[in-house]
Amino acid sequence: MRAVRSDGRVVTLDRAAREPTPAPGEALIRPLRVGIGAADLHAFRNPASFTGVLGHEVVGIVERVNPLPGRDDQRRFEGTRVVCSPTVVCGRCSLCRAGLSNHCPERTVMGLSGRDGCLADRFTLPVANLFAVPDSIDDEAAVFAEPLGSVLHAGLLAPIESKTYVTVLGDGPIALLAAQVMARRNASVRLLGRHPDRFGLCEKWGVKHRHIDEAGRRQDQDVVLDCTGTAAGLDLALQFVRPRGTVILKAPPTGSGPAPGLDPARVIDAELQLLGSRGSRIADALLELEAGRVDVVSLITRRFRLDDALNAFTAAEEPGQVKVLVEA
Ligand SMILES: [Zn+2]
Repeated sequence: MRAVRSDGRVVTLDRAAREPTPAPGEALIRPLRVGIGAADLHAFRNPASFTGVLGHEVVGIVERVNPLPGRDDQRRFEGTRVVCSPTVVCGRCSLCRAGLSNHCPERTVMGLSGRDGCLADRFTLPVANLFAVPDSIDDEAAVFAEPLGSVLHAGLLAPIESKTYVTVLGDGPIALLAAQVMARRNASVRLLGRHPDRFGLCEKWGVKHRHIDEAGRRQDQDVVLDCTGTAAGLDLALQFVRPRGTVILKAPPTGSGPAPGLDPARVIDAELQLLGSRGSRIADALLELEAGRVDVVSLITRRFRLDDALNAFTAAEEPGQVKVLVEA
């Protein structure tokens, strides 16, 4: 089968990859669509960061389940269209048992850390990580379940009262999803980006927007959600947030460039809350998509075949692209 694989030095399309075998409790899945996100691009550009098959945003069909002993009910997923939580956890440690499995010390993340991903003809994942997709959500919307779920997770960290002023920093797919989600939470939302060609999407959704260099840095925003994926994002966020306000760091820095030092005095003097966010609420994302409350399909700017997946990564870095999909 085909698989887009990093050997730790370079990423290639391996046309003679061995088909994976599902372990007990795992499903064998055939991808239908795979999204390329910032973390995938980082793995592509830095092959030393991850060895294995790339890809973690996917909608696919379960071809076969290898159920755990006595768990034939796990076969119910066979033939089902699913989206996936990419983080695989132990389920036994104290964090997992406390409902914080997102922070399981033994976790692996498909396509990013310790586990093969989905940019291949087949991949495997535990049945516990699968979510059946309602028929009303088509493949090109369903593939956004993971990034949309991650934005919903981050949004819940922010205290939103009536007319909370929220600034979303960035204009990549995560920022564009976050602006829509926050705008629906009774907040006054503006998106600050660097690509004016993307502002048309904000206008379509009724979300205010400005070029980031034109926005006054008045430290008057209740909540700043940094989706820039750059080391400079935190520094920028501190210039917009009000005293006692909240900064949520959504996207980890994946770009190059020096990281400005965080000034602890600014955090202390203004009594700021700095919150990190990782993880994704996939089931909630499916509810949003089913209800048609978030426009995801408008983010798709290019589609590639799996045979051409390496070019999909190159294209995803072009400034004109928002979301690039690979059709398996
Ligand atoms: Zn655990």
